[in-house]
Amino acid sequence: MLSNSLIELDRAHLVHPVASYRGHEQQGVRVLASAKGATVTDARGHQLIDGFAGLWCVNAGYGHDSIVEAAARQMRELPYATAYFGLGSEAPIRLAAELADRAPGDLKHIYFTLGGSDAVDSTIRFIRYYWIARGQPQRDQFISIEQGYHGSSTVGAGLTALANFHTGFGIPFEWQHKIPSPYPYRNPVGQDPQAIIDASLAQLKDKIETIGPDRVAAFYAEPIQGSGGVIVPPKGWLKAMRNLCKEYGILFVADEVITGFGRTGPLFACTEDEIVPDFMTTAKGLTSGYVPMGAVFMADHVYQVIADGAGASAVGHGYTYSAHPVSAAVGLEVLKLYEEGGLLENGVKAGARLMAGLEGLRDHPLVGDVRGRGMLAAVELVTDKVAKTPLPAEAAPARRVFDRAWDNGLVIRAFANGVLGYAPPLCCTDDEIDAIIERTAKTLDQTL
Ligand code: PLP
Repeated sequence: MLSNSLIELDRAHLVHPVASYRGHEQQGVRVLASAKGATVTDARGHQLIDGFAGLWCVNAGYGHDSIVEAAARQMRELPYATAYFGLGSEAPIRLAAELADRAPGDLKHIYFTLGGSDAVDSTIRFIRYYWIARGQPQRDQFISIEQGYHGSSTVGAGLTALANFHTGFGIPFEWQHKIPSPYPYRNPVGQDPQAIIDASLAQLKDKIETIGPDRVAAFYAEPIQGSGGVIVPPKGWLKAMRNLCKEYGILFVADEVITGFGRTGPLFACTEDEIVPDFMTTAKGLTSGYVPMGAVFMADHVYQVIADGAGASAVGHGYTYSAHPVSAAVGLEVLKLYEEGGLLENGVKAGARLMAGLEGLRDHPLVGDVRGRGMLAAVELVTDKVAKTPLPAEAAPARRVFDRAWDNGLVIRAFANGVLGYAPPLCCTDDEIDAIIERTAKTLDQTL
């Protein structure tokens, strides 16, 4: 039974991430108590299918004994080992090697972090170090994309282009620039894939020329924009942007914190998009959310410049928990589940069923757009399908849709702009996918 005192304790003491503090005080917390596979159970005993895998992270699903055992074994043997002072431990070394082995192109050097925000933050520091080592210290300008999300570290938040990550903080980011999102449903150039790609290329080119080509350090892109509302660029978009950066000699960072580890099908979305970035940032599915960890993949040609630039000096960037052995042991086991355990394969099958099911909701009067790739999808709600009128933000419909879905036994992400986000665990069965669709349909009918 959920004790009311738990809600009171939460209200009084736990500061929640990305929340309206006053709104949360009023609503009170929903407490999750346990989970197995794709099902979570709240403290009142209400069972729900987790259509969002926690926070797009529990890709393997909940309750894998082999993951728990891997963590426990590592905790018993060696719960902590620093990677400073020339020391190390087996699990992170092995995980780095396994990841490098599977990474696109020459992304052979792995820097472990605690999550996605500090993975992005680390790339910013590495990129500055790289350009200074190459004798081009003036390259200190960074470009990202409207509606992009790259975490909320003090520096990395500047690349994030969502208003509430900036409003009220008063932290200036004059060195960070944005180009419009390649949002097919709401793109001024229409939905034609080539027109969208051409528009983005022109916008990036224009931005680089305006800043000055010799001032730009790097361009950041998510293969699919997650927190901006699961915005799926046309096929060929990522490759075109990557190639333009290469032409200008600008570093290209693919932020795969959401798309990595089977979320869109393959282990990394970059593979499907046939690109090799200079950096790739990952987290979430790396450990399937069981313990915190992120990983920066660094191209060999970048690593060599930084290494030569530093010479005998230390590159002053690191955390007490860099390359944590327990997280790495979990990462190794999760990787095994993706491959030998068939999770990637199941994710592809379940993803096709999810997309087909959501496509079946297109005719619903509230559904303006359905989009996605693999087990990453969105339904965009509108009040007028022709005018594409978004749901009114002031009426907080997103919260109501979330609440109704919850009551119907489904966890989804309801973005403030009326986009419903889906990122179920890759282990979902056909019945679970079908239940996600049925519960969504019921929720939409109740929202009319
Ligand atoms: N980058 C992307 C693309 C993300 O989606 C996120 C989180 O959702 C982050 C970075 C930040 O990761 P974390 O929340 O683990 O700090």
